[in-house]
Amino acid sequence: MAGVRLDRVRKVYGAVVALEELNLEIEEGEFLTLLGPSGCGKTTTLRLIAGFVEPTSGTILLGEEDVTGLPPQHREIGMVFQDYALFPHLTIRDNIGFGLKERGAGKAEIEARVQQLLELVQLPGVEERYPSELSGGQAQRIAVARAVAFPPRVLLMDEPLGALDLKLRESMQIELRRIQKELKITTVFVTHDQTEAMNMSDRIVVMNGGLIEQVGSAEEIYNSPKSKFVADFVGQINLIEGDVVLTRDGFATLKVAQDAAIRAPVANGDARGTLAVAVRPEHLRIVDSAETADSDNRLDGRVVGTIFSGNLRKVFIDIGMEKPLVLEDRPQNVALQDGAAVRVAWSPSDGILLDN
Ligand code: ATP
Repeated sequence: MAGVRLDRVRKVYGAVVALEELNLEIEEGEFLTLLGPSGCGKTTTLRLIAGFVEPTSGTILLGEEDVTGLPPQHREIGMVFQDYALFPHLTIRDNIGFGLKERGAGKAEIEARVQQLLELVQLPGVEERYPSELSGGQAQRIAVARAVAFPPRVLLMDEPLGALDLKLRESMQIELRRIQKELKITTVFVTHDQTEAMNMSDRIVVMNGGLIEQVGSAEEIYNSPKSKFVADFVGQINLIEGDVVLTRDGFATLKVAQDAAIRAPVANGDARGTLAVAVRPEHLRIVDSAETADSDNRLDGRVVGTIFSGNLRKVFIDIGMEKPLVLEDRPQNVALQDGAAVRVAWSPSDGILLDN
């Protein structure tokens, strides 16, 4: 097992810059997720680590070893893809044992390892079956067992749960994380699903247009996004644009729509010019004028839509900005009618000030 380091790694395909200079360190035993929209460079990063593509410039290290020019078969890396890629004409035993056999392991050794791995992925007894006789979730567990059989220095997974339905996906997230923890294997996982990234990762790398936008734990990325892109991509968020008119006691006051003044914490030092205040839907409340604390931010608006999803309610409120505000709370006894006038409030400390 080893950590991974990408040092000023750049990848250009003809006129397309797939990756700008990327610097990234993945710790030994860490579960790191590359998250971002289609085309942001996630798969390219994974393929560079695996050795399927060579960087245009820069260095890739596995542990202490510079593997930049090393072909994939010599990197000792395990891979899991979305489409399982199991060998259809081989039994599950032979699929899992394939890499071990290639490396000259004996029959008894392979059998013992196959049994051990079937226990690990909680599918004992399927060794005689063929891949077509497994469900999608089972096939993906076998793909993981095969990837870790020899065992690799690093495990790479490219959208491994992409083909599964939502419920199965969630249970497989827990399952994959359990296996990863048990093996303590350095893992790089690719997804465009932010919930999946948050559920599984020690750290998340949010990518956009071949660049890293932010690296951090799920909490850091969700609670302290560093850019409008991250704030908007990871979870839902309201972005309220305004001009800074005052900065005092660690808070900036901004003039926003309706000529209202709202306050937000200033992260480091000064805030000036046109900025955006980001606030999560769950931090907004619908209030009576009487119950609003003086220090709260307040905006008046009209309800333009409501979504009821069982345990939660989403309310869309037009406050005269391009997009309505989104508020999320527990469903109330009294339904809100479209067109109803409401006052929205939130604590200034729940706002995040971001460059516009
Ligand atoms: P997705 O989620 O859609 O798989 P991604 O984030 O994995 O996207 P990449 O596959 O890494 O994105 O692609 C990054 C950029 O590089 C894209 O603009 C893509 O079109 C381009 N690209 C990737 N592979 C090649 C290639 N072999 N030749 C030319 N351009 C490529």
